[in-house]
Formats: sequence, structure tokens, C-alpha cells
Amino acid sequence: MTRQRLILATRNAGKITELHAILADAGLDLDLVGADAYPEIPDVKETGVTFAENALLKAHALAQATGLPAVADDSGLCVDVLGGAPGIFSARWAGAHGDDKANLNLLLAQLSDIADPHRGAHFACAAALALPDGTERVVEGRMEGTLRHTPVGTNGFGYDPILQPEGHDVTCAELTPSEKNAISHRGKAFRALVPVVRELLG
Ligand code: IMP
Repeated sequence: MTRQRLILATRNAGKITELHAILADAGLDLDLVGADAYPEIPDVKETGVTFAENALLKAHALAQATGLPAVADDSGLCVDVLGGAPGIFSARWAGAHGDDKANLNLLLAQLSDIADPHRGAHFACAAALALPDGTERVVEGRMEGTLRHTPVGTNGFGYDPILQPEGHDVTCAELTPSEKNAISHRGKAFRALVPVVRELLG
């Protein structure tokens, strides 16, 4: 029997490996492929105003274009004192999309006068599953923490060097990938997706 194919709307190999491991741990034997397997399909505009809306937009676009079930995630950093910003604008907070260093430096400058008790923040991730017939599900995960005044650590990406997860005395950029996945917003959202995948595709 051929395995059910599931497409993950990302070109990030790390995310594919992470979701693959989580699905395999749960005993789900699916043929998980990244959006790179379908280079002719254009990236969808993220016009939603929440992580969940953007994850659903991406999942539906891919499911419609391929006729196959699709998973998409959308994530970002939400800073308490900024009312949840950068939020959905996390990847382009300093202007150019994906300039991690500029984004982090701008955020640190904006928070330079904010004292430790007020530096609460969390990473948030929405993970959506869409089927070609329009069926949709979305789940969310969070990692709470506080923001450092200076970046520390070289692992990870984005705002990892400044977010110290609750209950830890290091930043996300000092954790190994598996330590981070165990507590991360994305790890939690992907794990919450397992029963949904089992229900709709298992
Ligand atoms: P995306 O959902 O993968 O496109 O991530 C959006 C943006 O949120 C990234 O460019 C990062 O700036 C930020 N972000 C999301 N997840 C993380 C994380 O785990 N660590 C650090 N930054 C993150």
C-alpha cells in the first residue's frame, strides 16, 4: 500500500525533520514532503491578521494546488509590553523580510529602557491542516519567557538569542535543537496536530 502523502508548506528542512520525527514518534507513517517538491506552486501572500489565519491560508493554498492534504505553520514573537508585537510581523519587523539580525537589534533598541520585570514575551505558533475538500483544523502552541538585554548563544535563528524560556537560565539559542523542540511553540503545535492528523488521515 502506498503511504498517504502530506505536504508541509515550508522550504525549511529543519521544520520538515521536526514534524517528521513527531509524526513518526506517534506511529503515523506518512510520506511527508516539503513545498520544495512542488516548485511550480507560488508562495501564498500572508494576508491574515493572526498566526492561525496565515497558517490556514498557506495550508489551503497548497492543498488546493496539489490535491493533497497540507500542513502549514505560522509563528512569531509576542512581547507583552508591545501589546503582542512584533507578532505576525516578526519576520519583517525591521523592514526587510527575514533579516533576523536587524529584527532582533531593532527590538532590543525599542526595549532598552524596559526593566526585567516587564520583559515578558512568548513565541507563538499556529499549525494548520487542510484537505483538498476544504476541511480544516488549526492548533496552537506557545513558549513563555523573558527577553534578555543582549543576545546570547549561537544555535537556532530569529529571536532565539534574546528569549529566555520560563524555568531556564539560558536563551533558546543556547539550547540544542532537541532541547528546544521539547519546549518550543512549534514543537507543541506540531505535537497538538498529531491527533488531528490521525483523525483525518490516519
Ligand atoms: P515563520 O513562521 O517561520 O515564518 O517565522 C516568523 C518569524 O518569527 C521568524 O522570522 C522569526 O523572526 C520569528 N520566529 C518564529 N519562531 C521562532 C523561533 O523558534 N525562534 C526565533 N524566532 C522565531
